[in-house]
Amino acid sequence: MSIQNRLLLVYALIFCVVYFLSSLVVYTLPRDQILAQIDADLYSLAAELVSSSTQVGVDGDILVPLSEELATLETASTFLNIINRRGEIVARSKNLVGYDKLLDPESLGTAEVYRVVTHDNTQVRVLTVPVSDDDGRIIGHIQVARLLDNFEVFSRVLSRALLISMGAAFVSLIVLAALTSTLFRPLEDIATVARQITRADDLSRRVPHSNRTDEIGDLARAFNQTLERLERLFRSQQRFLADVSHELRTPLTSVRGNLDLMRRFGDYDEESMVVIQDEMERMSRLLGDLLLLARADTGGLPLRHEPVELDNVLFEVYRQISRIEKPVTMELTAVDQVMILGDEDRLKQLLLNLVDNAIKYTQPGGVVRLSLAKDTGWAQLVVSDTGIGIPAEDLPHIFERFYRVDKARSRAQGGSGLGLAIAKWVVQAHGGAIKVDSTVGEGTTFTVTLPIYQPPGRLGSTNGEAAEVEIKTRPGLRNRALPGTLRRGQQVNERE
Ligand code: ADP
Repeated sequence: MSIQNRLLLVYALIFCVVYFLSSLVVYTLPRDQILAQIDADLYSLAAELVSSSTQVGVDGDILVPLSEELATLETASTFLNIINRRGEIVARSKNLVGYDKLLDPESLGTAEVYRVVTHDNTQVRVLTVPVSDDDGRIIGHIQVARLLDNFEVFSRVLSRALLISMGAAFVSLIVLAALTSTLFRPLEDIATVARQITRADDLSRRVPHSNRTDEIGDLARAFNQTLERLERLFRSQQRFLADVSHELRTPLTSVRGNLDLMRRFGDYDEESMVVIQDEMERMSRLLGDLLLLARADTGGLPLRHEPVELDNVLFEVYRQISRIEKPVTMELTAVDQVMILGDEDRLKQLLLNLVDNAIKYTQPGGVVRLSLAKDTGWAQLVVSDTGIGIPAEDLPHIFERFYRVDKARSRAQGGSGLGLAIAKWVVQAHGGAIKVDSTVGEGTTFTVTLPIYQPPGRLGSTNGEAAEVEIKTRPGLRNRALPGTLRRGQQVNERE
């Protein structure tokens, strides 16, 4: 059953119960009160007669000398009968002259009885009171009665009023049903559009009524926001799949082409072997990066939380890179001693990715600078270069997966477009932030901010001054030779 019908049913049920109860109260309360008033009047009349006027006749029967006013009775609607032991009327009020029937023949017993009796289609309330002599023997009865005509009129008017109000209530129920369906129509509209969206697989559509200010507007807005998010996710997933397939197809085509060549000429071709090897390495790097991001997404990539001397990580990366032959100059500017809580391998990977990019996108003769500084609870790691820079319109996207400013150039440099996505994940997983500033033709600066770890009991050891730059291999640090170029995939997988 729809909510609309359910609501109507509930309305109708509540209404019927309330109507029935209130009608009962309205109908019975005044009726009982009126009857009680009549009964009280009849009783006092009967009591007055019994106490003041009744006597026992010589035959032991009732004798009531009716006073003139009682016999006339002021109210024409009040009647009186005096009945002897044998049930015969011995005296009556004047308005009963000629009427020989007893007012209530069934109540001549030993107790007072109030009854509503019908005479010639007219209802009367009758009180029958037995009268006894001093020995307690019943000598007769007094019956006093009152016409109930006013009371009947009242009852009729009341019944009609209740009927009319019932009709009005019924009409209001019909109006309510119509109004309810109008109120629910926007919900039906939303459901219809939602169904169309599902059927047409078109996440770019939006449901109507989102500009309303009521609950339906809230629902429509929430639904549209969900659709927007779904659309974004769906698009990025599609783009991601297309990018992955493309990235994998290119090296595979190259490998196949070179293998074909070698087979055709039946010759072991050294140049083709080098190309094949490069492409295979690029693919394994790409797969390594993809695997890492996939595991990071699903929360399946555990991060260690150990105290790490960030300055040492920086020195180590600097030292490794310094051993590689490259066309740019590397400079370590300021290095503060900074301890953070985190995963040393991932932090090294973050730095390598940034430095790798800085070297890749800087022309021969350019400079790549590294620095580490302390700033009220935060470590600031900066990798800047004097390279080609990034256009302003690309800056907001460069941390997206597979986003590359110049695809051809990036691929030629061995890039896959995942390095910065990984860097961003590492920074965020350490509770930090990464930002980029760049000017085309002048250079790029990446700034990583990470929360500092203050080991218990080691207060005041760092004062924020730059430590003297001294590059030494510390015991326990492992040397990782990076043959020829920086290889992200290899670094990533080392500890996995
Ligand atoms: P890639 O593997 O292509 O280098 P990244 O995710 O590391 O992928 O970088 C994304 C893109 O950002 C690069 O393709 C490049 O266009 C741009 N980029 C990154 N770092 C720099 C930099 N230091 N200078 C200029 N462009 C950069």
